[in-house]
Amino acid sequence: MNSPLFPALLDPTDREAIRFGDRALSYRELAAVAGSLAGRLTGASRVAVWATPSIETCVGVVAALLAGVPAVPINPKIGERELTHILTDSAPGLVLSAPGVELPGGLAGVNRVEVTLDLPETTPEITAEPGPETPALIIYTSGTTGAPKGVVLPRRSISSNLDSLATAWEWTAEDVLVHGLPLFHVHGLGIGVLGPLRLGGTLHHLGSFSTAGIGAELGGAATMMFGVPTMYSRLVADAETDPELAKAVGRARLLVSGSAPLPATVHQRIAAATGQLVVERYGMSETLMNCSVRASGERRPGTVGPAVDGVEVRLVDESGALIEGEDDETVGEIEVRGPNLFLEYLNRPDATAEAFRDGWFRTGDVATRGKDGYIRIVGRRAIDLIKTGGYKVGAGEVENALLEHPGVAEVAVTGAPDDDLGERIVAWVVPQGDAPGEQELADHVARLLTPHKRPRTVHFLESLPRNDMGKVMKKALGS
Ligand code: ATP
Ligand code: MG
Repeated sequence: MNSPLFPALLDPTDREAIRFGDRALSYRELAAVAGSLAGRLTGASRVAVWATPSIETCVGVVAALLAGVPAVPINPKIGERELTHILTDSAPGLVLSAPGVELPGGLAGVNRVEVTLDLPETTPEITAEPGPETPALIIYTSGTTGAPKGVVLPRRSISSNLDSLATAWEWTAEDVLVHGLPLFHVHGLGIGVLGPLRLGGTLHHLGSFSTAGIGAELGGAATMMFGVPTMYSRLVADAETDPELAKAVGRARLLVSGSAPLPATVHQRIAAATGQLVVERYGMSETLMNCSVRASGERRPGTVGPAVDGVEVRLVDESGALIEGEDDETVGEIEVRGPNLFLEYLNRPDATAEAFRDGWFRTGDVATRGKDGYIRIVGRRAIDLIKTGGYKVGAGEVENALLEHPGVAEVAVTGAPDDDLGERIVAWVVPQGDAPGEQELADHVARLLTPHKRPRTVHFLESLPRNDMGKVMKKALGS
């Protein structure tokens, strides 16, 4: 028999597995409900999951995994065109959803199965599991750099990566994780739901994120939190004026941030307000988590730590030559190798082939490496590496410098075509308090970094365009 993805479902106990508000399932109940649903899915080619933030979404995905049918979670706020793309691309035979949820017209042609939490009369026995290379999840990327691609993740990616994270974070069955993340990406679903379930621990999902919800959970049973940087910004803003919230956050065993860069300033404010040093990790749909600061390791703001156990991470220059050393200066593209890697992009052999070089996956992210292999992400090769006046400047470095100015609440830095410089550094700033002047911000960056890294143009905005994961959609900014 292949090794099970969820050992805790084989011999289930009454320990709480998943809770959404006042609705919860123990391992015994989850094994019964998901096990009987799995019986109805066997034989399907692929199954779409209408991924509302609900206990039914978790049950649907677990059932598909038990049945060995690849699950395609879909953002319930998805637009018509993107839905058509995903349905045509992944051709699911069934769609699972919570009862009573209205599905868009685009899904009318797909057989619907409502996930209920009714316990079956007899608990189905969960026995054989599919092999490690069987596709388990098809996750569509966020579409930050192009059209979303369907990433086919085998069971081996999930099991190996969750085991690496358990080591990195000293994550055990005793932990109660709280988050309010969406359930159709690897952050909220891949590690945020499947992580606790693989370990036999507990997930408390907020349904939708609120700082009050986090405070109530961390002041209660929860030991760990996952979040994207925008959630941590909101949390610290509230904790700075609410001593009870600050105290609750201070009790947590571990706070983990990812999906987008956690500004060093937010890291430092959280430390000052709550005493917590947030652990940052770096991952993506294609790889799950590549790097993380360890629970027992040094927490350096602005870094995502070294590669997790079992995963190899290297930096290469534009010609593909290896960059050695730990100078925290030389910028290179991150390449990854290990059991965490995906199988392929669905129906995209061209994109799959292009993504690999000699067995290494080219992440498209650029970074520097410091002491002990600590990786500092600079941004995306395609959009965040600005070539200006013969220099290569990482948008992330300029963004961090700008965030140190008291008049800057949020910022995104892009490159714009420039006759003289090739590209010109442009800053998109959400101001706070007394809005700083353009020249003042340019001087601030020139002082902290070097003069060629200063923004030549500054645009002031009320907010930055962000997607549901809090990632800044730089494509939506002009020049
Ligand atoms: P697409 O591939 O469609 O352009 P995407 O890359 O944003 O979209 P995801 O797979 O959801 O889709 O996101 C992975 C990306 O998120 C990584 O490649 C990286 O750029 C970014 N990321 C994740 N964690 C971090 C982090 N801690 N710091 C900085 N960036 C991060
Ligand atoms: Mg990507």
